[in-house]
Amino acid sequence: MLIKYPGRLKKNSICLVCGSGLADVGASLEVCPDCVRNRWEESQDRIEALHARSRRVFQLPLVPPDNAQGLSCTLCIHQCRMGEQEVGYCGIRAGTRESIRQDGRLRARVSHYYDPLPTNCVADWVCPGGTGAGYPLFANDRGPEVGYYNLAVFFEACNLNCLFCQNWQFKKSQAAVPEWQSVEALVEKVNSETSCICYFGGDPIPQLPYAIKVSEQVREKYPGKIIRICWETNGSMHPAWLKRVFRLSMESGGCIKVDLKAWNPNIHRALCGFDNRQILENFKRLAQMAAARKDPPVLLASTLLVPGYVDDSEVFQLASFIAALDPDIPYALLGFAPQFCLEDFPTTSIAQAEACMDAAKRAGLRRVRIGNRHLLH
Ligand code: SF4
Ligand code: SF4
Repeated sequence: MLIKYPGRLKKNSICLVCGSGLADVGASLEVCPDCVRNRWEESQDRIEALHARSRRVFQLPLVPPDNAQGLSCTLCIHQCRMGEQEVGYCGIRAGTRESIRQDGRLRARVSHYYDPLPTNCVADWVCPGGTGAGYPLFANDRGPEVGYYNLAVFFEACNLNCLFCQNWQFKKSQAAVPEWQSVEALVEKVNSETSCICYFGGDPIPQLPYAIKVSEQVREKYPGKIIRICWETNGSMHPAWLKRVFRLSMESGGCIKVDLKAWNPNIHRALCGFDNRQILENFKRLAQMAAARKDPPVLLASTLLVPGYVDDSEVFQLASFIAALDPDIPYALLGFAPQFCLEDFPTTSIAQAEACMDAAKRAGLRRVRIGNRHLLH
């Protein structure tokens, strides 16, 4: 059954908290950035209603289940406790022993494609596949690896609820009859031309044990071959998983690309459903580990420039946080395309992108770039 997202939720041209105009940013969030930041108690109910509606249509739980008699999942910040008839917030794991044992571990809801290198990857400007950095240990060539492929692995689930999700269509297949793929089936997709595997989605987090198993089996099957293991993630895994994820990228020449979606916790809650405290903590831990390999970098950050809400002041604070950890961590600022619940928003303006670039540099970061330039207006 094809589910069409109902689109923009409600068209108000003014902020429902303070009454200021929303014409410049888009009206579907219903609350202006200032009220989200400074009048959260008045904004919260409206914002939470938007999130609830965006999940109900896909039959996803409105909040992480917390059933005292249920089975626990400790993969991410939510630590869901699910009764037998319940599923976790991500929609992957149910509260039965069988599901906890195998879903996202021995089998995954996942699809893949082969992406010719150099590819339009968040990290291609600094990574071995896009630049030859780390040759000959981690790259097959001194420059872009023409003739090789990234095995792009798309996980069809997520544990956040970003209202701007650029890949929200996975929620439609999640709501349909699930198709599962075994670890062995995905390992088989690696071939002689594969030089990196990139896990993204959705997010790899709800199916992290599966991704780790695939990576370990691939590395065992092809000893000595360059196959970099890379991740694009919102960074909200339980901290207990950080080391295993990091080690795979570190040893293979790959990288972890963490999408830091906002600095202000209320802006993060409004846009993504939850605050960012643990995400920033996780990033800090990754940065400490990443000091061991700066070139090619094992850790990168990116931020989507959502008009009005993720502005230069947000970026300045995020960039200051990153720079205090290591000013050489690469940071990509990404142009926004109107999607999912924020489909009435404009694309990022050139002026906003340039102000954010300037802010990131002023904060002390030395490697900053604007991605998705074609989207800027
Ligand atoms: S998947 Fe990794 S190695 Fe491949 S292009 Fe992207 S960042 Fe570079
Ligand atoms: S991975 Fe899914 S089931 Fe596990 S804690 Fe996170 S949201 Fe809940």
